[in-house]
Amino acid sequence: MEISELGEFGLIKHLTKDIKPVNKSTIKGVGDDCAVMQYAEGKRVLMTTDMLMEGVHFDLQYTPMKHLGYKSAIVNISDIIAMNGNPTQMVVSIAIGKRFKVEDLEDFYAGLQLACENYHVDLVGGDTTSSMTGLAISITCLGEAAPEDIVMRNGAKVNDLVCVSGDLGAAYMGLQLLEREKAVFNEQYREAKQKGQDIEPAQPDFSGREYLLERILKPQARQDIIQRLKEAGIRPTSMMDISDGLSSEMMHICEQSGVGCRLYEEKIPLDYQTAATAEEFNMNVTTCAMNGGEDYELLFTVPLTDNEVVSKIEDVKVIGYITAETEGKKLICRDGSEFDLKAQGWNPLKGNE
Ligand code: ADP
Ligand code: MG
Repeated sequence: MEISELGEFGLIKHLTKDIKPVNKSTIKGVGDDCAVMQYAEGKRVLMTTDMLMEGVHFDLQYTPMKHLGYKSAIVNISDIIAMNGNPTQMVVSIAIGKRFKVEDLEDFYAGLQLACENYHVDLVGGDTTSSMTGLAISITCLGEAAPEDIVMRNGAKVNDLVCVSGDLGAAYMGLQLLEREKAVFNEQYREAKQKGQDIEPAQPDFSGREYLLERILKPQARQDIIQRLKEAGIRPTSMMDISDGLSSEMMHICEQSGVGCRLYEEKIPLDYQTAATAEEFNMNVTTCAMNGGEDYELLFTVPLTDNEVVSKIEDVKVIGYITAETEGKKLICRDGSEFDLKAQGWNPLKGNE
């Protein structure tokens, strides 16, 4: 059977369906942003792991090593935060090829350490080996939380409000910009080579688009949002971070909570640069926001009774509400038309969907 028939999530489900935890300390296994363990009364341990492969998750032609280090740490830290937890330690494993210099790896570690510093995480170990196929990075991050604080994907209730932090689609548009410049550069390089000339690469002009580049190259984990929710006395009923795109993540929450949803296109938070760049690329900006991914914003649900309080929290927007499962998972467009959400998230294991 071809893996593409199942896709990433289908494959994970298929491989793990018979796995049953046998240790009392395992509270939650496969299926959420983190696994949850409890070794002592009153405190739970969160664990998440992510692997980043050169050519699949990052392109070193336009990703500085320092940014790569920073982002590799953030994608893990973000999963701990998405459980309403506190990140504490990480281990970092790398497989490196011959073309890397010590200085490259120093830059990578400078980025890793900066992220660890910003989020108060200790880098406590890892593994180093060689690779024949490019750089591979594997990071595992631990965190902690009180049992009553942990928020999973499965707690959304009918009538809850659906909220997102920040704005969406910017990382995806940043990636489009970088890919376009890469194509331009490679074409110039090819032509120059044909003529036997040396090429003086023109520095691409990204002025006015800095925000988009920052979103793709230096994302942040939204610990500040967790803090604001706590201060406002709000405990989300479900939560996850948006790595694959709003549409796909909303479907995870709905499926695991056994509910449906109605999201409103007009409410989806967008930055001006995202909208302007989408127009320039002839792309539908809503599609970018729904399916773009890599924004690492938080998607969460809160009880309807928190409406007034949550609406006042800076950088949080209510974009819809939870319905009964039978009502489906819908996006309501500006003109009133309704569409079913689709998991078009970034999913390299699933053909060309
Ligand atoms: P995220 O995007 O938040 O990092 P994923 O979509 O990668 O989460 O993973 C979803 C769930 O499936 C997580 O609980 C993760 O631990 C689990 N998972 C992913 N790959 C595997 C695997 N190869 N074996 C077991 N569990 C896996
Ligand atoms: Mg996640």
